[in-house]
Amino acid sequence: MSTPTDSSRRELPKIAWIGLGIMGSPMAENLIKAGYDVTGFTLEQDKLDRLAAAGGRAAGSVAEAVRDADVVITMVPASPQVEAIAYGPDGILENARSGALLIDMSSITPQTSVDLAARARDKGIRVLDAPVSGGEAGAIEAVLSIMVGGERADFEEAEPLFEALGKTIVLCGPHGSGQTVKAANQLIVAVNIQACAEAVVFLEKSGVDLRAALDVLNGGLAGSTVLTRKRDNFLRRDFKPGFRIDLHHKDMGIVTDAARSVGAALPVGAVVAQLVASLRAQGDGGLDHSALLRAVERLSGAQV
Ligand code: NAD
Repeated sequence: MSTPTDSSRRELPKIAWIGLGIMGSPMAENLIKAGYDVTGFTLEQDKLDRLAAAGGRAAGSVAEAVRDADVVITMVPASPQVEAIAYGPDGILENARSGALLIDMSSITPQTSVDLAARARDKGIRVLDAPVSGGEAGAIEAVLSIMVGGERADFEEAEPLFEALGKTIVLCGPHGSGQTVKAANQLIVAVNIQACAEAVVFLEKSGVDLRAALDVLNGGLAGSTVLTRKRDNFLRRDFKPGFRIDLHHKDMGIVTDAARSVGAALPVGAVVAQLVASLRAQGDGGLDHSALLRAVERLSGAQV
């Protein structure tokens, strides 16, 4: 990305970033690299220090972070956290200025996004839901897929900023549509990881060279971004997150509920949701979702 000139830097909106976790930290840093003025707030002091070291400003609260912002971006775990930072006297809606644009990039229920947009409208704050796919690596490399719900004019205003974070950026429809597409994304990713995990256990038990097998599989119709990105996790049994099983469990709940509400059957998704839930119940919720391999190993009597 080209370095902005002094005049373009002056025109860039001031950003408040709430939620500097695995995804939020590198994403906020990419905005800083693109020339944006970023003030952030998150619960961990080390993440605030990291933001400051990258050239951002650390705030002491949500209210302080959002007060002067043109655009507020949130990247927190789930609907309860979005509601906690949006509503209430110390929240975004009470403290951001009227006319500000609130972009929630967390993966939450579509209904939470619809409700947030309605409540924000009463305060003169515009909202986009803009969840992402691509994982930690996609966040670091600024190649995320960004699925957006909301008004077209707000989407077009946010597009330059999205371009500093991702590569595939699509307005999917009205408020909540981005979250619905993200729910479908999480269904596809979980089923794909599960299929890869089953293939890994099958190949190993069959005595086939796993590296060779994964290489050739990834060149054919069985190839996928999941197989590319998670290959080393499978080979090394390295389940450091990445994307935590706890978060994928949340997402499988979102897609299962949303599908039921529109009368869509997800038979394979329902089974994989149970496997994710089982892994979590066995204490593996903090591991990367590639740890679905552990569940298959347990079922197959393989060593874990
Ligand atoms: P994370 O747990 O690493 O980070 C969440 C951050 O939110 C933490 O830094 C925490 O301090 C902050 N937070 C929580 N409550 C807060 C509050 N009240 N005020 C201020 N900050 C608060 O999670 P993550 O992996 O970065 O995921 C964030 C969102 O992105 C989730 O919705 C997740 O489903 C989604 N997502 C994650 C990935 C991934 O690969 N990790 C990929 C795509 C989407």
